[in-house]
Amino acid sequence: MDIEKELYQDGFEEYPKSTVFIENIFMFLWIIFGSYLCWTFMPLIGWIYLGFGFVMVLFIMRILVCKNCYYHGERCHTGWGKLSAVYCKMGDLRQFGRGLSGIIVPIFYTSLALIPLILGAISLVREFSIIKICIFMTYLLISMTSSFIQRKKSCSKCKMKDICPGTAAK
Ligand code: SF4
Repeated sequence: MDIEKELYQDGFEEYPKSTVFIENIFMFLWIIFGSYLCWTFMPLIGWIYLGFGFVMVLFIMRILVCKNCYYHGERCHTGWGKLSAVYCKMGDLRQFGRGLSGIIVPIFYTSLALIPLILGAISLVREFSIIKICIFMTYLLISMTSSFIQRKKSCSKCKMKDICPGTAAK
């Protein structure tokens, strides 16, 4: 199979800088607010979530996922294709989202979203506060917007959308 022919021909070669900016702001806030919610449950878990979240997003995922992406070395919707090129060489498009990355990526993002929600909810039941409930609702809004609305928009213009197992554009 000629994988180049499977790419979405009308997809962006490079995404607008504004998209990269917005997506990074949302991801940054997602991890910060998520860390706070975990912290209200148990401070140590908050710090672990913070460290784990940033290490996974900025390093591990970029090697595991982005090396096999069309946008490796390019400005994808998050700009992380360029980050990936700092760590590793371009891999094989046919391997994108397969093998280990096909297992780890959904587990990672599901955990990143659900752990603060569960721990934050328990913390609220244990001790209610206005600040906690405001952060909880803001976190919900940020993670939902990032995971569904923004992702769907970005996937619809992605060269990889027809071969990516995690696309939100179908
Ligand atoms: S289709 Fe969506 S999830 Fe898949 S590589 Fe493109 S932007 Fe990322």
